Amino acid sequence: MSLANFSLIDVARPAARRSRQARVVWGQRVVTIGGDAPVRVQSMTNTDTVDVIGTAIQVKELAVAGSELVRITVNTPEAAAAVPHIRDQLDRMGIDVPLVGDFHYNGHRLLTDHPACAEALSKYRINPGNVGKGEKGDRQFAQMIEVALRHDKPVRIGVNWGSLDQELLAALMDENARSADPWTAQQVMYQALISSALQSAQSARDLGMKPEQILLSCKVSGVQDLISVYRGLAARCDYPLHLGLTEAGMGTKGTVASAAALSVLLQEGIGDTIRVSLTPQPGEARTQEVVVALEILQALGLRTFVPSVTACPGCGRTTSTTFQELAKQIDDFLRAQMPVWRSQYPGVEKLKVAVMGCIVNGPGESKHADIGISLPGTGEAPAAPVFIDGEKALTLRGDRIADEFMALVQSYIDRRFGQAASEPAASA
Ligand code: SF4
Repeated sequence: MSLANFSLIDVARPAARRSRQARVVWGQRVVTIGGDAPVRVQSMTNTDTVDVIGTAIQVKELAVAGSELVRITVNTPEAAAAVPHIRDQLDRMGIDVPLVGDFHYNGHRLLTDHPACAEALSKYRINPGNVGKGEKGDRQFAQMIEVALRHDKPVRIGVNWGSLDQELLAALMDENARSADPWTAQQVMYQALISSALQSAQSARDLGMKPEQILLSCKVSGVQDLISVYRGLAARCDYPLHLGLTEAGMGTKGTVASAAALSVLLQEGIGDTIRVSLTPQPGEARTQEVVVALEILQALGLRTFVPSVTACPGCGRTTSTTFQELAKQIDDFLRAQMPVWRSQYPGVEKLKVAVMGCIVNGPGESKHADIGISLPGTGEAPAAPVFIDGEKALTLRGDRIADEFMALVQSYIDRRFGQAASEPAASA
């Protein structure tokens, strides 16, 4: 067999994004979005915004989990009045994540009546389907843009098919009905979503907003619909795009649907921020949506957030759950340490750890990792070889394999990513 018999296979890479760049700022914290900035992770609280402490705590949890922007509901005068206090509380806790205000129906009034809220927020989300109808809607939209201009804040024009501008949709449906070659209702709906976003963006620009202050989203809840809409939207503008499958659902369904839709678009270079709209399962932390968003970006090779653990799925060769438990223990350990390690061990997120179940793929996979362990399968000698930087370093035995392996991981991280590793050796 020779390579000469084969044709070259391209290495798959996400296409380059071509959106312009926006900036979302709070204090010294500047989050760039679009252009050559990394794809950003967003999330949204589900606390009552009036509950200042509860909301600040959840924002902190989301930020610590890796959310780079956190959106909060601003739906009542009481919520708008609470926003600056939430911001103050976060600043006191040392959390500088920018806050995004989510406005529907009364945003024009809340932003005008509560200038401290308008100032404390770093971005406003405006839903063109929920600003009012006709001339009144135009006036109320303009009021929100004027506040954004006064406070120098960017806006996201966020269209959602559940609240799509019905006048626009009806006008496009009528026009389509008169066409000699009509589109399907689904295609007209796609067009209505895109037109709503683009028309509102143009209105904002006519009112004085710079294109760099405008971000767009067109969220739908079907995977293929989302792909179609964003392909159409990306082809027609260069505003930074926020991606998300709205109402993705719970658990595995929501996770898989979001990953499927976002991965296709991100691979095509479409999308500058993402949110995974998971419905939390009873008892599940709100931060799960951030964990999934980070995993999507990391799996696609777009960003690296946490050390990766390669673990085999197990099979008939592993009749004990030892290796599953060890893989989970290592994964939990690495995630729990990351908030501290991020500053203590620069670059640690690139670490690769392997936890394998038997001799078949164990040693090979472990050698490809920075540090890996191959546990004994059923019937194999009760020994677990550990590989460090591709070489077999030692063999662990006995019932403390998990603890001993985690200690080895910790000392590997210390040695490779610790301060001493990056400081030049002191001269004699
Ligand atoms: S490494 Fe071993 S235990 Fe794991 S899936 Fe492969 S054969 Fe099964």
